[in-house]
Order: sequence, then C-alpha cells, then structure tokens
Amino acid sequence: MEGLTVPGASSYSIVSAAASWTIIGPVTNKRMLVSTAAVLLGVAAAVGPADAPADLLLTGGRVWTAEMARPWAEAVAVRGGRIVYVGDVSGAARHRGPKTRVVALNGRLVTPGFDDAHIHLMSGALSLERVDLIEDESVATVQARIRAFAAAHPSSAWVLGRGWLYGSFPGGLPTRAQLDAAVADRPAYMECYDGHSGWANSKALALAGITKETKDPVGGAIVRDPATGEPTGALKEAATALVESKIPRPGAEERYQLLLRALRLLNSQGITSVQDAGYSPKELDAELPLMERALREGKLTVRMTVSVQMSPGDVDAPVARAAALAKVHKGPVLRFGAVKGFVDGVIEAHTAAMLQPYSDDPSFGTGKPNWEPAALDAAVTAADTAGLQVYLHAIGDRAVRMALDAHEAALRANGNDDRRGRIEHIETIALADYPRFRALGVIASMQPLHANPDQNNADVWSHNIGPERASRGFSWRNIEKAGGRLIFGSDWPVVTSDVMRGLYCAVARKTKDGTPPGGWHPEQAVSLESALRHYTIDGAYASFEDAEKGSLAPGKRADLVVLSEDLFAQPPEAILKTRVLLTLMEGRIVHRTEGFPAP
Ligand SMILES: [Zn+2]
Repeated sequence: MEGLTVPGASSYSIVSAAASWTIIGPVTNKRMLVSTAAVLLGVAAAVGPADAPADLLLTGGRVWTAEMARPWAEAVAVRGGRIVYVGDVSGAARHRGPKTRVVALNGRLVTPGFDDAHIHLMSGALSLERVDLIEDESVATVQARIRAFAAAHPSSAWVLGRGWLYGSFPGGLPTRAQLDAAVADRPAYMECYDGHSGWANSKALALAGITKETKDPVGGAIVRDPATGEPTGALKEAATALVESKIPRPGAEERYQLLLRALRLLNSQGITSVQDAGYSPKELDAELPLMERALREGKLTVRMTVSVQMSPGDVDAPVARAAALAKVHKGPVLRFGAVKGFVDGVIEAHTAAMLQPYSDDPSFGTGKPNWEPAALDAAVTAADTAGLQVYLHAIGDRAVRMALDAHEAALRANGNDDRRGRIEHIETIALADYPRFRALGVIASMQPLHANPDQNNADVWSHNIGPERASRGFSWRNIEKAGGRLIFGSDWPVVTSDVMRGLYCAVARKTKDGTPPGGWHPEQAVSLESALRHYTIDGAYASFEDAEKGSLAPGKRADLVVLSEDLFAQPPEAILKTRVLLTLMEGRIVHRTEGFPAP
C-alpha cells in the first residue's frame, strides 16, 4: 500500500491508516487495489483535513472488524459517513473534538452492519400486514391464528397470510376445508413459507374460477382430490397465480409506508445492506418508484442491490432492463447490475430437480428443472456478456450442477474471472460438485434458517429425499472446506429476517428451542467468526462493494452495529437473547434501542 499518499492533505489518520492497515484482507485483483485507493482519496476529499475531529466516536468496546489482518479493536471514529479510525482507546481520543458525539461502549461488541445477501424486500414489506404463520406447527394453531387475524380485520375484503409449513398438515398439503373452518365469509389465501405453494379457501377458489374442469397452467398444478377430481385448495408453483392475480394489491402510498416499516424493522435487526433476489420487469415498474422515492427522501436506510428476474423464453428484456438500470443506479445506496433465474423449485413440493428420484414417492421422478440446460447456459452467458452478475436459484442437486455448468459456460465464453456468479440456496449437492465453487469462483448464497431442524425439516424435507442426500443438506461447512465463498441471508419473508436467529442456526444447527440437543448434522455448522463474515464482508464481496463496506477499516463507509452481548465470550445460546442496541448506516443512527443512551 506504499505510495498511497493523498496529495495536499496533511492527513494524519488517513495516511497512517493506509500505511499501517492491510485493507480488505488478501488483495485478489487489480480492481480491488484501484478501488481501495479511490476510497481513500475520496475520503480525504470528502471530509476535509484528516486531523479534523470525528463526528462520532464509539469507544471502550470489543470491536470485531471482519478484517483478517487485524480482527479486534476497541474504538471506531466516524466522520462524514466514513470510518476514519479503528484502533485502541488512546488513539481514538485524538479524534475527539468539542462537538464529537461519543458512544461509551462499556465493553459491548461492535461488528460491521449486517448484509442480508438474499431477501425479497417488497414481499417482506407486504407481509407485514398479513397473518404470519411461520412458527406454527399444528393445523389447530394455524387455524386459530388465522381466525383471530380475520376477526381483527373485519373490513378486509380478503384474509391474507403467509408462512405455513408443509409439515403442519397430514399428507404435507393443506385443504380448503381446513381454511373454510377458519374463514368462511370472505376469500382467504395463505402463501406457503417458501412462496412455491398456496392454500385457498372455497370462496377464493370460486373467485379465481378454479373448478374440477380447470386445466393445470404451464409450470403449475392444481392439487385435486384423487377420488372426486375436485380442487383440494392447495396450489403448486404457477397455479398459485390463478388466485394471487385476483388479490387486490395495496396502492402505491400504502406500499411505500410498508416499505418504510420494513426498512425500520431491518435496521432494528442490525441490517444495513440487502441484496434483493429479484423482481420481474413488470414488478419493477410498480416497485422501483417506491425505492427511488425512499432514496430521494433520504429514507432508504438499508443499502439495496437489486436483481431483475429472467425466465425461460424471457431473457433479453430482463437483461436489457438490468443493464440499463445498472447505469442509473450505481450505489452506494441503490444499486442494480444483476439478473436472477430459477433453475428449479423446492424439495418440499417435489419441484426441485434431483439427480436421483425422490425417496418418498418415486412417482415424482427426479423433479423437472425449469430450464433446458442449453437455454440456461445461453441465458447466463448473455447476461454475462452484458456485464451483469447472475444469481441462480438451485435447490436440488441436479439444479445445482446445471447452475455450475451455466456459470462455467459463461466463464468459458467471456473469460471474465471476476464475475462473482452466484447460486442461491444449494439445499442439496452431489459430492463431486463441492470443489467447483472455488474452481469457478462461484459464490454459494445460503440462508441458515432454511436448515432450521423443525418438524417440517424432518417430516417433509428429509423424508422426501432420504437420509443419504439429507446428510449433505445445507452443507455450509463442506463448502467452506472446499474453499468456496459463502454468503448468508434470510430469504425474508420466507423466514424471519432476524439475523440473530440465522446466526444461531448457522453455529448450532438447532431450533430456537434448542432441538435436537446435539444439533442437526452439526458437522455442517460453521464457527461464529465465519458466520459473521458471511453476514458482512463476504456479502459485500458478492455485491462488488468489499472495498467500500463490510468490514471496519479507515476509509470504509460507517455501517456498524452495537450488540447487547459479547457473542465471542458466551455459549451460542447467548445469540438468541442478543439485542441490537445501535445501528449506524453511513455514520447515521438508523436504529437505537430504547434505554441505550443517545450520543
Ligand atoms: Zn428467495
């Protein structure tokens, strides 16, 4: 880093920081070196003389920086939205001026702000006004919760909810009679937690015109009673749209208010960045103006990287849209530059593409991928040629292999070895495919709470694919051991966006109630430090922003959190009682727990 002097600036901390810090761990390529230099120069220019006092000083804590070379410090100083100092308490004192606001950490743990690398922000926002069934495990509890919600919302034309688990229902799927028993006076519709199946009551089926005679739509199935042929109320994949298209959508203003609520919720969970796993061009028409408005009004308090969905037969338009938006929104708060495709569905509904047939019922065969392999290779290569990053949803081991093949095809075609291609979920994987993540530079994007070892996992997920494949379920540690780069997220609203819940599952492989006692396939758990890296600096790498954020180092954007517990000093169970006391985004306080003193 020598030679990185800032012309004309008598910049004590910036220059000394540049000289004494190994920034962003191992420098892997030229682009990173250049952008690091740009960050440092940018800081000196943006915040004036480097010996000016800090705006904000957090001192006397345990600061985990996510920097390989220097993981621990005691204090952080912030000026102009950037970090200007990370180090010990006495060094920090030099950054204190008469107007510097000071946070006395009293030994509290500070980490970089969390990056939820796979989220559906607008769906999450909309879910805030729907009945939440995520933690319910029996039909009776699910029904009771829906009944109470309906009673509390007597004027809603529809009763909407989400989050039911396949494992709650005998046979793995709910019926309209079960929902009629909770809501009979209005249409009611409940989305499954994974978003791949739906559950309608009789009124909703009638409103959507779904009868015995209705044909299955392409890529979907209306589940039918084997004896009578009548629709049961369960809908799979594309068939969900038959009902969902009839649900009145909240207006733009209402959705905007929900978006702001969602941002506040994420900030309260310590989240300062998200990577949004996809909108179709049509959805973007509706939702992008809301994101742009929040940006304009200074209310976008979570940095967003947004991908555009492509699907078989619909590649060119999404690629063109993503490429055009990448020129308009380059960050640092709102950023485009990626497309996303779904290679398959989910294991619970037997729609994930497997290399071998399903174990519970061979009539499902191996499941069917959404794409022909050649078409997927061509789509990924086309996006790569347009300079876009590609996310591929792949859950079955066959889909994961197809996704790796497609990333490899793009690499061969264009030779860009810094494309940071991603595969989302990777719930199952063949042994032979682990080393390919490292070899191809493909990022494994996984969501710890998807491995939550609850009844749904045991009775449906593991049951459907059998113990041998389940033993490589959500195999984070195997991917790490094979040298693959792993990033963590929630997939909210599929599961909660609460980072502490995800972190606990990542290190313990247990439910929040501590079951099973030794953890589910505990050999696939990761260390606390690894898990935190996957929620911070690794996520920043995935959005090409690791030179700008994701760790605590001079020159980086001041996104950080103060936690109530020192996770490194306590057993994993402490994670579950940990609260986020303070969240800073760009040096600005975007969340403060009541009772934690304001600086
Ligand atoms: Zn998702």
